[in-house]
Amino acid sequence: KFSSAHRLGFGSANPTSKIPLGLKRKGLRIVVTGGAGFVGSHLVDRLIARGDSVIVVDNFFTGRKQNVMHHFGNPNFELIRHDVVEPLLLEVDQIYHLACPASPVHYKFNPVKTIISFILLQNLITGLAKRVGARFLLTSTSEVYGDPLQHPQKETYWGNVNPIGVRSCYDEGKRTAETLTMDYHRGAGVEVRIARIFNTYGPRMCIDDGRVVSNFVAQAIRKEPLTVYGDGKQTRSFQYVSDLVEGLMRLMEGEHTGPFNLGNPGEFTMLELAEVVQETIDPNAKIEFRPNTEDDPHKRKPDISRAKELLGWEPKVSLRKGLPLMVSDFRQRIFGDHKEGSN
Ligand code: NAD
Ligand code: UDP
Repeated sequence: KFSSAHRLGFGSANPTSKIPLGLKRKGLRIVVTGGAGFVGSHLVDRLIARGDSVIVVDNFFTGRKQNVMHHFGNPNFELIRHDVVEPLLLEVDQIYHLACPASPVHYKFNPVKTIISFILLQNLITGLAKRVGARFLLTSTSEVYGDPLQHPQKETYWGNVNPIGVRSCYDEGKRTAETLTMDYHRGAGVEVRIARIFNTYGPRMCIDDGRVVSNFVAQAIRKEPLTVYGDGKQTRSFQYVSDLVEGLMRLMEGEHTGPFNLGNPGEFTMLELAEVVQETIDPNAKIEFRPNTEDDPHKRKPDISRAKELLGWEPKVSLRKGLPLMVSDFRQRIFGDHKEGSN
């Protein structure tokens, strides 16, 4: 099936669904919403390197021009300052939808805006995907499992989410986004893909965005104590960003709608994470306990059998290998001339 983008002459001669995995091909026109953010900017790098034309749509709430400015001047790259809750019409072949604050500090900042932006996802799907027949990939989250009663979490698990808690604007918002995505798929034949992403880290994460990896790494570099919330025995599974990007691209190019868990099954308590940060950056870093946040999930670990079997994907970078890869980027941004937050 050819999209209108192809009919209008914007796309490649080959529709994505017919291209075998791993085969080099050129010239797709791809929108990455949230492409100036942490994950989005790494995805943009891979797509541009593959030869695609990329349009980044971002309102710079948590993203930064600096994350993508190495592509400025490249005719295959465009940057549009736009809030995805407003309608946008573009002729494209694929949409990777990442625009959304991911850190609890950011999504709790304006919870009403957070939940409403998920509901207004219909603008994006109708304006970009349904209208031209483009494929739409939603980046959902492990948060749809809430404080899980099943461990590890499989995609078939429906979750244990507090609908009225302080995290619900994000958790329930992403669940709503999954529902809307599937309803457009079933009801209007929109080609969709759903990824459920588990905690991801790497260079270009926002410094001081409150997420545990960015907090610990910045604290160790600044010789401040590592702030462990609660008793530090809660667990998370940490995935390096390049593994996630590979998973997202395989999902987009593959034949399966999903949802797929994309995460690293290596599970760590926050105290164990603090130890890895001490080993990597500063063995003398102190630990300081702080009260935990409300509704904090006790454990989190993906079952990735489905992604292994159907996408041929599994993470390659362990926490001990991945953590050092973000340290020089953080050091440069903390101590360098370069100022944060100048959009
Ligand atoms: P991020 O905050 O670094 O990037 C999000 C980007 O979206 C930013 O550039 C921001 O400016 C932009 N944005 C936010 N709201 C927008 C809006 N209304 N209109 C236009 N642009 C907007 O976050 P990230 O870690 O790169 O996460 C990317 C996606 O992956 C998010 O959808 C997030 O929910 C999902 N995810 C991430 C993780 C993780 O651990 N990083 C885990 C689960 C899911
Ligand atoms: N956390 C912590 N210290 C920090 C920030 C977070 O111990 O400085 C804990 C937090 O309570 C949670 C875990 O780390 O249990 C992961 O938090 P994060 O905000 O990174 O991600 P999420 O809760 O969305 O998985």
